Amino acid sequence: MSLPRVLIVGAGPGGIAAAHRLRECGDGQVEIELVTRGGTATHLAGSVPVAIGAAEAENLSCAVALPGVRCTAGEVSVVDGGGAVIDGRRVDADAVIASPGLVPDVDVVPDWSRACTGWDLDAAVAAAPRLEAVPGGTLAVVVCGLPYRCPPAPYGLAMALARTHRASGRFTKVCVVTPEAFPLMGVGGEAPAFLMDSCAGAKVEIERKFDVDLGASEDGVLRAVDGRALEYELAFVIPPHCRSAMLADLDAVGPLVKVDARGHSSVAGVFVIGDAAATGLPRAADVAATGGRNAADAVLADFGIEPPKPAAAPQPSCYINHGGGSMSRIRISYPNGLPPDGEASVEIDAPTPDLGYAAEGERRRFLESVGGT
Ligand SMILES: Cc1cc2nc3c(=O)[nH]c(=O)nc-3n(C[C@H](O)[C@H](O)[C@H](O)COP(=O)(O)OP(=O)(O)OC[C@H]3O[C@@H](n4cnc5c(N)ncnc54)[C@H](O)[C@@H]3O)c2cc1C
Repeated sequence: MSLPRVLIVGAGPGGIAAAHRLRECGDGQVEIELVTRGGTATHLAGSVPVAIGAAEAENLSCAVALPGVRCTAGEVSVVDGGGAVIDGRRVDADAVIASPGLVPDVDVVPDWSRACTGWDLDAAVAAAPRLEAVPGGTLAVVVCGLPYRCPPAPYGLAMALARTHRASGRFTKVCVVTPEAFPLMGVGGEAPAFLMDSCAGAKVEIERKFDVDLGASEDGVLRAVDGRALEYELAFVIPPHCRSAMLADLDAVGPLVKVDARGHSSVAGVFVIGDAAATGLPRAADVAATGGRNAADAVLADFGIEPPKPAAAPQPSCYINHGGGSMSRIRISYPNGLPPDGEASVEIDAPTPDLGYAAEGERRRFLESVGGT
């Protein structure tokens, strides 16, 4: 008799954690396949160090090779209750766990000569020499819409750039443009005040409630829907994020797919986890990884292999660059349950070089979990 098949889509923290859990707890009773674009995994958090010239892109990605898991390279166009379409070919599965992340919608940003557009490793590689070369004037880090991946990261990028430019004698005005009334309002606790104070200390300005109107903006001038204008020398534009096309047929709120606490979507047998899932939690690695483990447990319970387990709560932590190798960290936990019933508890570790080493440890552990270096 053939084993039940689980198809995992994506080799981010969500897909990788789901694969490990299925292998550990499924005990040879399920067949596991993980398919991902190019057969590789990338540690996205390293994109900010790459953009500021403090890290090399080649140290952030590796081939996916997990024992006991069939790992394949492919482009998934559809997931449904019976499997997926990979490179135009139908592949059957008894359950699908999809963790394709969010898609920075670069196509909606005009092709301005004074803008670098994107929010991933490739965008960081392309932007690094241009961010370094800005001669002065205003350098804007522009958040075009919510939600986006890793809410504190644009502020870290701006603080690191401000310090680098000042160290080289340039009076570049660095600012973060955001539609939020305060940075990290969705995280709450001390996080907004901490980021406002940190940015002020690094001489980074924050243009708040600046809802960018891309249609009315032009090369060198950003305009908000309320009519405000901001002239810039160079803009690093973080585009609005949209849903992966493979999830188009699932119930969603904006770019996020509606799911329950274990990742079940509106289609039986299809689980959606990580950045793509509407959970009320931040777009962060441990949210994706915990979602992957919860979905794997639910799949094993649905197959009758393991008894149902309560869904675990994540403990995400985001590292924030402050320039000069110094980093702070925002740690979030949910001691009284997940939102909307429970409130997040937010702890902040002040910037130190030691946290730079801790962030490096996260990179190494992720790539080791993927089967790389
Ligand atoms: C600049 C930046 C800094 C960040 N810093 C932090 C941080 O300090 N701390 C933190 O916790 N989080 C951070 N994050 C957020 C974190 O990286 C994400 O929350 C996490 O990676 C989400 O995991 P995921 O599994 O949902 O998706 P992803 O990591 O986005 O992985 C998606 C996977 O799916 C694959 N895929 C996508 N579409 C297809 C397709 N059609 N076919 C096949 N494969 C496909 C991709 O190739 C990839 O392997 C940062 C993100 C960014 C962009």
